[in-house]
Amino acid sequence: MTSLLRPLVAGNWKMNGTGQSLEQLAAIVAGLDALPASIDLLICPPATLIERASRTAHGSRLLIGGQNCHEKSDGAYTGEISAAMLGDCGASHVILGHSERRTLYAETSDLVCAKADAALGKGLVTIICIGETETERRAGEALSIVEQQLAASVPAGARAATVVIAYEPVWAIGTGLTPTAAEVAEVHAHIRALLVARYGSEGQAMRILYGGSVKAANARELLAIDHVDGALIGGASLKASDFLAIASVY
Ligand code: PGA
Repeated sequence: MTSLLRPLVAGNWKMNGTGQSLEQLAAIVAGLDALPASIDLLICPPATLIERASRTAHGSRLLIGGQNCHEKSDGAYTGEISAAMLGDCGASHVILGHSERRTLYAETSDLVCAKADAALGKGLVTIICIGETETERRAGEALSIVEQQLAASVPAGARAATVVIAYEPVWAIGTGLTPTAAEVAEVHAHIRALLVARYGSEGQAMRILYGGSVKAANARELLAIDHVDGALIGGASLKASDFLAIASVY
């Protein structure tokens, strides 16, 4: 079975890209017509490019998002960016709780939840990332870690239109490793059950993306798994041809 929900194919450029990278963005825009109208497409460039990326994507169906935001709306937080600022630059989405933020910047699930509340309050669609480390998977804890992170990171009033979950096993990010289809299916089914238990019909309609070493060669298999409603793509979103090739499996 493929996704029953409208898929979202999202690219996370991380700390990659300068003005020159807008050429790749323009190439993505140019390739959109060849993709089915039934999928959403999003690129999250670094904050410095959001405004220019929004201009490049203007008039097309390519959505632009941020990769993080602060939980407060304004104030003395040198170097930080608020949800309102992302929106002001043209972002409609924001990725929150990416494992790199959780690991390198010690973001807890409680903080991710506060950021999600801030982002939702400013009208951004939030993509909330969860996923186990390799050690946790080896210890048989993948489902319980995902359960804990989901419970604590996703705000109580989450709605399907504005909250997207991304399951990203930490050990699969940037490594070329991916879980087996059965492993992905197990975790996504578990996330779905938890979402339905907590949010009812909204949980049924909330999209669950898979992320971690998604590329053109494995996208068809991964995106066909039950309750995989799209992808969050790192490395393979940097080149327009790779990103478009992944999206074209729909
Ligand atoms: P990757 O990154 O596709 O390069 O593994 C995924 C992510 O971090 O979202």
